[in-house]
Amino acid sequence: MNFTDQRAVVTGAASGIGKDIALALHREGARVLFVDRSPAVTEIAEVAGAEGLVADVAAADFPDRVAAWLNGHGLSHLVTAAGIQVRTPGIEIAEEDWARLLDVNLSSFYRTVRGLHGALRTGDGTRPGSVLAMSSMSADRVLAGIVPYGSVKAGLSQLIAGLAVELGEEGIRLNAIAPGYIRTEMTAQMLAVPANHERIVGRTPMKRLGAPADVTGPALFLLSPAAGFVTGHTLPVDGGYALA
Ligand code: NAD
Repeated sequence: MNFTDQRAVVTGAASGIGKDIALALHREGARVLFVDRSPAVTEIAEVAGAEGLVADVAAADFPDRVAAWLNGHGLSHLVTAAGIQVRTPGIEIAEEDWARLLDVNLSSFYRTVRGLHGALRTGDGTRPGSVLAMSSMSADRVLAGIVPYGSVKAGLSQLIAGLAVELGEEGIRLNAIAPGYIRTEMTAQMLAVPANHERIVGRTPMKRLGAPADVTGPALFLLSPAAGFVTGHTLPVDGGYALA
Protein backbone atom coordinates (compact mmCIF):
# COMPACT_ATOMS: atom_id res chain seq x y z
CA MET A 1 0.00 0.00 0.00
CA ASN A 2 1.86 3.02 -1.24
CA PHE A 3 0.12 6.40 -1.03
CA THR A 4 3.18 8.57 -1.70
CA ASP A 5 2.25 11.89 -3.32
CA GLN A 6 -1.27 10.71 -4.11
CA ARG A 7 -3.96 13.32 -3.60
CA ALA A 8 -6.57 12.38 -1.04
CA VAL A 9 -9.59 14.21 0.35
CA VAL A 10 -11.07 13.10 3.67
CA THR A 11 -14.30 14.60 5.02
CA GLY A 12 -15.20 14.47 8.69
CA ALA A 13 -11.48 14.83 9.39
CA ALA A 14 -11.86 16.83 12.63
CA SER A 15 -13.07 13.88 14.67
CA GLY A 16 -13.31 10.13 15.12
CA ILE A 17 -13.05 7.84 12.11
CA GLY A 18 -12.38 10.50 9.46
CA LYS A 19 -9.60 12.09 11.51
CA ASP A 20 -7.85 8.76 12.05
CA ILE A 21 -8.04 7.86 8.34
CA ALA A 22 -6.82 11.33 7.26
CA LEU A 23 -3.84 11.17 9.63
CA ALA A 24 -2.97 7.63 8.47
CA LEU A 25 -3.10 8.59 4.78
CA HIS A 26 -0.89 11.59 5.57
CA ARG A 27 1.60 9.37 7.44
CA GLU A 28 1.66 7.03 4.44
CA GLY A 29 2.80 9.89 2.22
CA ALA A 30 -0.45 11.07 0.61
CA ARG A 31 -1.17 14.78 0.03
CA VAL A 32 -4.29 14.96 2.14
CA LEU A 33 -6.94 17.67 2.34
CA PHE A 34 -8.58 17.44 5.78
CA VAL A 35 -12.20 18.64 5.45
CA ASP A 36 -14.72 19.35 8.19
CA ARG A 37 -17.41 21.87 9.05
CA SER A 38 -15.67 22.26 12.41
CA PRO A 39 -12.96 24.94 12.40
CA ALA A 40 -10.87 22.55 14.56
CA VAL A 41 -9.90 20.82 11.31
CA THR A 42 -7.52 23.66 10.44
CA GLU A 43 -5.31 23.09 13.47
CA ILE A 44 -5.49 19.28 13.20
CA ALA A 45 -4.26 19.47 9.61
CA GLU A 46 -1.62 22.10 10.39
CA VAL A 47 -0.15 20.14 13.30
CA ALA A 48 0.12 17.11 10.99
CA GLY A 49 1.73 19.24 8.26
CA ALA A 50 -1.23 18.86 5.90
CA GLU A 51 -3.90 21.21 4.55
CA GLY A 52 -7.33 21.83 6.08
CA LEU A 53 -10.58 23.09 4.61
CA VAL A 54 -13.50 24.27 6.74
CA ALA A 55 -16.54 23.36 4.65
CA ASP A 56 -20.04 21.93 4.87
CA VAL A 57 -20.05 18.85 2.62
CA ALA A 58 -23.74 19.45 1.94
CA ALA A 59 -23.13 22.94 0.49
CA ALA A 60 -23.73 23.17 -3.24
CA ASP A 61 -20.26 24.59 -3.86
CA PHE A 62 -18.39 21.90 -1.91
CA PRO A 63 -17.19 19.88 -4.97
CA ASP A 64 -15.96 23.13 -6.57
CA ARG A 65 -13.96 23.99 -3.45
CA VAL A 66 -12.26 20.58 -3.59
CA ALA A 67 -11.66 21.04 -7.33
CA ALA A 68 -10.01 24.40 -6.58
CA TRP A 69 -7.64 22.64 -4.17
CA LEU A 70 -6.88 20.00 -6.82
CA ASN A 71 -6.01 22.83 -9.22
CA GLY A 72 -6.31 20.65 -12.32
CA HIS A 73 -4.75 17.53 -10.79
CA GLY A 74 -6.56 14.22 -10.48
CA LEU A 75 -7.90 12.77 -7.24
CA SER A 76 -6.65 9.35 -6.09
CA HIS A 77 -8.69 8.91 -2.91
CA LEU A 78 -11.99 10.33 -1.71
CA VAL A 79 -13.06 9.34 1.80
CA THR A 80 -16.45 10.61 2.96
CA ALA A 81 -16.62 10.16 6.72
CA ALA A 82 -18.54 13.37 7.54
CA GLY A 83 -21.86 12.32 8.94
CA ILE A 84 -24.56 13.11 11.45
CA GLN A 85 -26.93 11.03 13.50
CA VAL A 86 -30.37 11.85 14.85
CA ARG A 87 -31.63 9.70 17.72
CA THR A 88 -35.39 9.58 17.74
CA PRO A 89 -38.17 7.10 17.06
CA GLY A 90 -38.48 7.04 13.26
CA ILE A 91 -42.11 8.10 13.25
CA GLU A 92 -41.34 11.22 15.27
CA ILE A 93 -38.41 12.69 13.39
CA ALA A 94 -38.80 16.40 12.65
CA GLU A 95 -39.06 17.35 8.99
CA GLU A 96 -35.90 19.46 9.11
CA ASP A 97 -33.90 16.68 10.82
CA TRP A 98 -34.97 14.21 8.13
CA ALA A 99 -33.99 16.66 5.38
CA ARG A 100 -30.60 17.33 6.97
CA LEU A 101 -29.90 13.57 7.46
CA LEU A 102 -30.60 12.95 3.80
CA ASP A 103 -28.57 15.92 2.69
CA VAL A 104 -25.43 15.34 4.78
CA ASN A 105 -25.36 11.52 4.83
CA LEU A 106 -26.57 10.73 1.30
CA SER A 107 -27.13 13.58 -1.19
CA SER A 108 -23.79 15.22 -0.43
CA PHE A 109 -22.04 11.94 -1.29
CA TYR A 110 -23.76 11.82 -4.65
CA ARG A 111 -23.00 15.48 -5.42
CA THR A 112 -19.36 15.12 -4.38
CA VAL A 113 -18.74 12.03 -6.51
CA ARG A 114 -20.57 13.62 -9.45
CA GLY A 115 -18.69 16.91 -9.09
CA LEU A 116 -15.30 15.19 -8.82
CA HIS A 117 -15.98 12.48 -11.41
CA GLY A 118 -13.44 13.90 -13.88
CA ALA A 119 -10.73 14.17 -11.22
CA LEU A 120 -11.43 10.60 -10.06
CA ARG A 121 -11.20 9.37 -13.63
CA THR A 122 -7.72 10.89 -13.85
CA GLY A 123 -6.56 9.67 -10.41
CA ASP A 124 -2.78 9.87 -10.22
CA GLY A 125 -2.41 9.75 -13.99
CA THR A 126 -1.66 6.03 -14.05
CA ARG A 127 -4.57 4.67 -12.00
CA PRO A 128 -8.12 6.05 -11.57
CA GLY A 129 -9.27 7.13 -8.13
CA SER A 130 -11.06 5.15 -5.45
CA VAL A 131 -13.87 6.25 -3.16
CA LEU A 132 -14.66 5.08 0.34
CA ALA A 133 -17.80 6.04 2.29
CA MET A 134 -18.86 5.32 5.85
CA SER A 135 -22.10 3.39 5.87
CA SER A 136 -23.30 1.64 9.04
CA MET A 137 -24.45 -1.76 10.23
CA SER A 138 -27.80 -0.02 10.79
CA ALA A 139 -28.11 -0.04 6.96
CA ASP A 140 -29.24 -3.67 6.87
CA ARG A 141 -30.71 -4.25 10.34
CA VAL A 142 -33.15 -2.27 12.45
CA LEU A 143 -31.43 -0.54 15.36
CA ALA A 144 -33.94 1.08 17.70
CA GLY A 145 -33.69 4.86 17.97
CA ILE A 146 -31.84 5.40 14.71
CA VAL A 147 -34.28 4.10 12.09
CA PRO A 148 -34.12 7.22 9.85
CA TYR A 149 -30.30 7.22 10.07
CA GLY A 150 -30.18 3.50 9.16
CA SER A 151 -32.54 4.02 6.22
CA VAL A 152 -30.34 6.77 4.83
CA LYS A 153 -27.20 4.64 5.29
CA ALA A 154 -28.98 1.80 3.42
CA GLY A 155 -29.46 4.26 0.56
CA LEU A 156 -25.75 5.11 0.72
CA SER A 157 -24.68 1.45 0.46
CA GLN A 158 -27.04 0.94 -2.47
CA LEU A 159 -25.78 4.10 -4.20
CA ILE A 160 -22.20 2.88 -3.83
CA ALA A 161 -23.08 -0.48 -5.38
CA GLY A 162 -24.92 1.21 -8.26
CA LEU A 163 -22.21 3.77 -9.01
CA ALA A 164 -19.55 1.04 -8.77
CA VAL A 165 -21.32 -0.83 -11.56
CA GLU A 166 -21.72 2.32 -13.66
CA LEU A 167 -18.14 3.54 -13.19
CA GLY A 168 -16.41 0.15 -13.18
CA GLU A 169 -15.49 0.46 -16.85
CA GLU A 170 -13.61 3.68 -16.07
CA GLY A 171 -11.59 1.92 -13.36
CA ILE A 172 -13.07 4.06 -10.56
CA ARG A 173 -13.78 1.88 -7.50
CA LEU A 174 -16.32 2.74 -4.80
CA ASN A 175 -16.65 0.85 -1.52
CA ALA A 176 -18.04 1.47 1.94
CA ILE A 177 -17.33 0.33 5.46
CA ALA A 178 -20.14 -0.51 7.85
CA PRO A 179 -18.63 0.23 11.26
CA GLY A 180 -20.15 -1.40 14.30
CA TYR A 181 -20.02 0.50 17.59
CA ILE A 182 -16.94 2.71 17.47
CA ARG A 183 -15.98 5.01 20.33
CA THR A 184 -16.20 8.58 18.90
CA GLU A 185 -18.02 11.86 19.54
CA MET A 186 -21.01 10.41 17.69
CA THR A 187 -21.47 7.53 20.11
CA ALA A 188 -20.09 9.15 23.30
CA GLN A 189 -23.42 10.16 24.84
CA MET A 190 -25.14 6.85 24.09
CA LEU A 191 -22.18 4.82 25.40
CA ALA A 192 -21.97 6.92 28.58
CA VAL A 193 -25.15 5.15 29.72
CA PRO A 194 -23.79 2.03 31.49
CA ALA A 195 -26.72 -0.17 30.38
CA ASN A 196 -26.06 0.67 26.71
CA HIS A 197 -22.35 0.03 27.06
CA GLU A 198 -22.93 -3.32 28.78
CA ARG A 199 -25.57 -4.45 26.25
CA ILE A 200 -23.43 -3.59 23.23
CA VAL A 201 -20.18 -5.11 24.51
CA GLY A 202 -22.12 -8.17 25.70
CA ARG A 203 -23.65 -8.69 22.23
CA THR A 204 -20.40 -8.14 20.36
CA PRO A 205 -18.60 -11.47 19.74
CA MET A 206 -15.22 -9.78 20.31
CA LYS A 207 -16.48 -8.37 23.64
CA ARG A 208 -15.26 -4.81 23.12
CA LEU A 209 -16.13 -1.56 21.38
CA GLY A 210 -14.22 -0.51 18.27
CA ALA A 211 -11.76 2.38 18.10
CA PRO A 212 -11.32 4.61 15.04
CA ALA A 213 -8.02 2.81 14.35
CA ASP A 214 -9.97 -0.43 13.89
CA VAL A 215 -11.63 1.18 10.85
CA THR A 216 -8.48 2.77 9.43
CA GLY A 217 -6.69 -0.47 8.43
CA PRO A 218 -9.59 -1.80 6.34
CA ALA A 219 -10.11 1.73 4.95
CA LEU A 220 -6.54 1.98 3.65
CA PHE A 221 -6.77 -1.52 2.23
CA LEU A 222 -9.99 -0.73 0.32
CA LEU A 223 -8.51 2.52 -1.04
CA SER A 224 -5.23 0.93 -2.11
CA PRO A 225 -4.35 -1.04 -5.24
CA ALA A 226 -4.24 -4.11 -2.97
CA ALA A 227 -8.05 -4.01 -3.32
CA GLY A 228 -7.82 -3.18 -7.03
CA PHE A 229 -10.51 -5.72 -8.03
CA VAL A 230 -12.88 -4.93 -5.14
CA THR A 231 -15.72 -2.53 -5.85
CA GLY A 232 -19.31 -1.86 -4.82
CA HIS A 233 -19.04 -3.53 -1.41
CA THR A 234 -19.90 -2.51 2.11
CA LEU A 235 -17.46 -4.22 4.49
CA PRO A 236 -18.61 -4.75 8.09
CA VAL A 237 -15.98 -3.70 10.67
CA ASP A 238 -17.86 -4.53 13.83
CA GLY A 239 -16.15 -7.24 15.89
CA GLY A 240 -18.74 -9.69 14.56
CA TYR A 241 -21.78 -7.78 15.91
CA ALA A 242 -23.86 -8.09 12.73
CA LEU A 243 -23.47 -11.88 12.76
CA ALA A 244 -24.49 -12.52 16.34
P1 NAD B 1 -17.82 12.00 14.65
O1 NAD B 1 -19.02 12.73 15.10
O2 NAD B 1 -16.72 11.74 15.62
O3 NAD B 1 -17.18 12.71 13.38
C1 NAD B 1 -17.99 13.17 12.33
C2 NAD B 1 -17.34 14.44 11.78
O4 NAD B 1 -18.13 14.86 10.65
C3 NAD B 1 -17.33 15.61 12.78
O5 NAD B 1 -16.02 16.16 12.86
C4 NAD B 1 -18.32 16.60 12.18
O6 NAD B 1 -17.97 17.96 12.43
C5 NAD B 1 -18.22 16.27 10.71
N1 NAD B 1 -19.41 16.69 9.95
C6 NAD B 1 -20.70 16.45 10.24
N2 NAD B 1 -21.50 17.02 9.34
C7 NAD B 1 -20.69 17.67 8.46
C8 NAD B 1 -20.92 18.45 7.31
N3 NAD B 1 -22.16 18.72 6.88
N4 NAD B 1 -19.86 18.95 6.64
C9 NAD B 1 -18.60 18.70 7.07
N5 NAD B 1 -18.31 17.97 8.16
C10 NAD B 1 -19.35 17.46 8.85
O7 NAD B 1 -18.39 10.64 14.04
P2 NAD B 1 -17.69 9.27 13.66
O8 NAD B 1 -18.16 8.27 14.60
O9 NAD B 1 -16.24 9.46 13.41
O10 NAD B 1 -18.45 8.99 12.29
C11 NAD B 1 -17.83 9.01 11.02
C12 NAD B 1 -18.77 8.32 10.02
O11 NAD B 1 -18.91 6.95 10.39
C13 NAD B 1 -20.18 8.91 9.98
O12 NAD B 1 -20.65 8.90 8.66
C14 NAD B 1 -20.98 7.95 10.82
O13 NAD B 1 -22.34 7.94 10.43
C15 NAD B 1 -20.29 6.64 10.50
N6 NAD B 1 -20.49 5.60 11.52
C16 NAD B 1 -20.01 5.75 12.80
C17 NAD B 1 -20.21 4.73 13.74
C18 NAD B 1 -19.71 4.80 15.15
O14 NAD B 1 -19.99 3.88 15.94
N7 NAD B 1 -18.97 5.84 15.55
C19 NAD B 1 -20.92 3.59 13.37
C20 NAD B 1 -21.40 3.47 12.07
C21 NAD B 1 -21.18 4.48 11.16
